[in-house]
Amino acid sequence: MLGLVAGTDEIRERALAALRACGVDVDALRTEGEAAASAGAPVVTARTPVTGEDLFPLPATSADGVAAAVGLAEGAFAVWRTTPAPVRGFLVKRLGQLLVEHLDDLAALVTTEVGKTPSEARGEVQEMVDVCDLAVGLSRQLTGRTMPSERPGHRLMETWHPLGPVAVVSAFNFPVAVWSWNSALALVCGDPVVWKPSELTPLTALACTALAERAARECGAPEGLVPLVLGGADVGKQLVDDPRVPLVSATGSVPMGRDVGARVAARFGRTLLELGGNNCAVVAPSADLDLAVRGIVFAAAGTAGQRCTTLRRLLVHSSVADELLARLVEVYGRLPVGDPSAEGALVGPLVAPRAHEAMEAALARARADGGEVLVGGERVLVDEAPAARYVRPAVVRMPAQTDVVRTETFAPVLYVMTYDDLDEAIAVHNDVPQGLSSAIFTLDAREAERWMAADGSDCGIVNVNIGTSGAEIGGAFGGEKETGGGRESGSDSWRAYMRRATNTVNHSRELPLAQGVDFG
Ligand code: NAD
Repeated sequence: MLGLVAGTDEIRERALAALRACGVDVDALRTEGEAAASAGAPVVTARTPVTGEDLFPLPATSADGVAAAVGLAEGAFAVWRTTPAPVRGFLVKRLGQLLVEHLDDLAALVTTEVGKTPSEARGEVQEMVDVCDLAVGLSRQLTGRTMPSERPGHRLMETWHPLGPVAVVSAFNFPVAVWSWNSALALVCGDPVVWKPSELTPLTALACTALAERAARECGAPEGLVPLVLGGADVGKQLVDDPRVPLVSATGSVPMGRDVGARVAARFGRTLLELGGNNCAVVAPSADLDLAVRGIVFAAAGTAGQRCTTLRRLLVHSSVADELLARLVEVYGRLPVGDPSAEGALVGPLVAPRAHEAMEAALARARADGGEVLVGGERVLVDEAPAARYVRPAVVRMPAQTDVVRTETFAPVLYVMTYDDLDEAIAVHNDVPQGLSSAIFTLDAREAERWMAADGSDCGIVNVNIGTSGAEIGGAFGGEKETGGGRESGSDSWRAYMRRATNTVNHSRELPLAQGVDFG
């Protein structure tokens, strides 16, 4: 177990320094936040799960402020949509450069607000840089198709146009990457982005926005391309309901997505939903167990189980179950848990006490269902960090896939079940409401192909011999069923941020009607 390497005061000073380095006027914001707090006005309190303590209050965006932010974005759209896409790419290229310059500042803020280890925090910022690269390339490849027309002297083609201001509502656990997946693409597609980050991560959002504003200024882009609004679900709801926002990209829990999806559908807007997962790995008899153990432990215990792609269920062939479980229990028993900045730390804190309560409740339900906790589950560093929530990741052997196993608990709990037949394993795997990420560990080509086939895993991410988490930005990211169906980042995800026009051009002197219709 690793202790705390810094107290709240030191963490606060480091965060302030990182914010100033990114160009945030944090001293003014802090003064405003303190004035708002003493006047009883709404605030967003920056805090750190590393000690579990508050850092300082920031002013929440008022209803008028949210409306004004959308207004600004609408104004920017009028200019940005006719700016050539490769020129829009210059802005994203500059943003990528600034992200590289401030990689350490941003990573420090991610560690402060989410409790990720420096390596994972840097990885998240690197992902932003990578997606900027992808978007810059795309800015010259927003291509439409030309289809053969059935009429002589006609051309049929599609054109992709900017859509309008995009609202991005993001979750706490990827406080910067999710914004960048959306914004880098949306900006090259010609759309401004109004961002409502998680109320748990306002600082990383302020830093990213300051860098994006700087990039926009330096490129002569219009003001209002990247407005930020701070607040809780009420601020999110106002943004989601605004008819000037044609696309809402929302990342978070299933209940949030259910509400957002219905509200936006009611006004015929579009949504891109990235919601909860309940990710599973199958370990087949032929699996390379060395590889499987490493893949499983990173996916299940990394980020303290707080990734949407975290491995939460394991289906192990009964012939290898005892050996695999013994190895997992041994590795789990020596996982370094503690201050994410401590030397060697691999598992940081849970984000808030409610996450710990949810974990305890899930473990109690699992035990009541006949589950056996093989390792972990206990809270640690209680005296040293009483306001924080550090836990040992748990492995629970379950007799069956009961309701608690079918539910996403956003904490490091890995439920293990055994199987004898791959068809049976695939059926159990798919028998959950969520459909984000999945993996099989096998050296049998037939099993791997069956897993990826139409009647295999029903998830949006279907891996072989690699864990469920840690996706690359080149592929489309997202999942099915209650995960929401959205796709972000690579492949053709950019299409979500544009509107398609189908053009039929007649360059003949006749006016033949389609389907041979005769109109006199
Ligand atoms: P959350 O649902 O509590 O909050 C997410 C965001 O939605 C926050 O900004 C919040 O203020 C806002 N919000 C909440 N209710 C809202 C409403 N009714 N209308 C508008 N905005 C609303 O989620 P969280 O605890 O921050 O994040 C954890 C969850 O996010 C997990 O379920 C995880 O699986 C999911 N997640 C999914 C992905 C993905 O890509 N599929 C990525 C990251 C996290």
